[in-house]
Amino acid sequence: MNRTSALILAERAVPRYTSYPTAPHFTSAVNGAVVTQWMAELDPNASLSLYLHIPYCRDMCAYCGCATKATKRDEPVENYVKTLIQEIRHAGALMRAKSVRSLHWGGGTPSLVGADRFARIMQALSEAFDLSAVDEHAVELDPRVTDEAFIAAMAAHGANRASLGVQDLNDHVQVAMGRVQPFSLVERCVGHLRAHGINAINFDLMYGLPQQSVADVATSARLALTLKPSRIASFGYAHVPWMRAHQKMIDAATLPGAAERIEQAEMAARIFSDAGYRAIGLDHFALPHDPLAIASAAGTMRRNFQGYVTDDADALIGFGATSIGRLPRGYVQNAPDVGHWRRAVEQTDLPIARGLVFSADDHARGTVIERLMCDFSVDFGAIAAHFFGRDDYFDDALAALDVLAEQHVLERQGRLITMTEAGRPFVRLAAAAFDAYLDHNKARHSVAV
Ligand code: SF4
Repeated sequence: MNRTSALILAERAVPRYTSYPTAPHFTSAVNGAVVTQWMAELDPNASLSLYLHIPYCRDMCAYCGCATKATKRDEPVENYVKTLIQEIRHAGALMRAKSVRSLHWGGGTPSLVGADRFARIMQALSEAFDLSAVDEHAVELDPRVTDEAFIAAMAAHGANRASLGVQDLNDHVQVAMGRVQPFSLVERCVGHLRAHGINAINFDLMYGLPQQSVADVATSARLALTLKPSRIASFGYAHVPWMRAHQKMIDAATLPGAAERIEQAEMAARIFSDAGYRAIGLDHFALPHDPLAIASAAGTMRRNFQGYVTDDADALIGFGATSIGRLPRGYVQNAPDVGHWRRAVEQTDLPIARGLVFSADDHARGTVIERLMCDFSVDFGAIAAHFFGRDDYFDDALAALDVLAEQHVLERQGRLITMTEAGRPFVRLAAAAFDAYLDHNKARHSVAV
């Protein structure tokens, strides 16, 4: 593939496929009553993964793509935690399935709840569910608002992995992206985590940021590696001001173009690979002993709203405003607005705003897309045969796949496709060939790289 073709491909807008069907296709047909039924019929032996969303931050970063709000006050956080505990108790009472395999805290800024509230939430979870078989308990941390007392509380309640938002470590980029976080803060946070026995440490780094050059990406990557994280995610900044109004604070003219974004992603990948990290999926890197590297090598890695994961629980239950879950019958999403979410919880209803009931077609296409995003290769004829007893079910994708094959993005042998080395960054384009909703999709997406 030449550079010009790569540039044309990189600028095509496609979903990130952290779910299929993607969230814009959720509808209000899935409501609290529907999900109450879905939860009640979960097999008592089903394993659970729990996600807790804390939608508050101290300040708003200009590049942020998350569902969160800035608050300097403690009161909204305290009120939120009270409602979250009510929601946990209510959902726990609806389900006979109790065994939790993984716990993940995201946001927003989970550490904003502080040590005492963290302990109260953990107490509620342990009363509503069985936490004795949890093997991964991960918390997303903002090093600017994480003190040692919070890390001690995490450790005391079994947290064994932390994800730190690092993004970029150059002063001028930090100013342009609206998040000033000196390296010393990250270093101190990592020191506290290790001192409390939390050694599985993820860093989130970003490229494509305002005022960021290829050399800046290299500087950040090398400096981050001095702290020896076990996993690194290298995300491309998605400039979507039509969806995230605060991104208008970023001057689009200061963003690197498509060619530079590709160079930045390649530079970061080269530095991580040279340091012994395995490239995983679209944008992750992990040391060989990390469970994600092991799952990737074994072909058992999964992809969900949290990105690439090792979690294969039967159901993902989301708590908190805007959180998304997945039950065997479909996707569910809580009300995004804290007020609506709270009112539903106070009326002892599930605070569900929307969702999607899986069809057999959704299951099958979702399986093809997930394997492709995780393994860069998929035998879609075998998946079609498994779901429908015929291997030509997805042949409507062949024309689009053959265009990508002509551009050397992928190779096709019958119904087996494999991304080429150069084509891997464009895997979302191959996934889009199987997306039955895309033609009708009016939503705008971020660029492919
Ligand atoms: S990037 Fe993280 S810390 Fe910054 S506003 Fe978004 S969620 Fe909050």
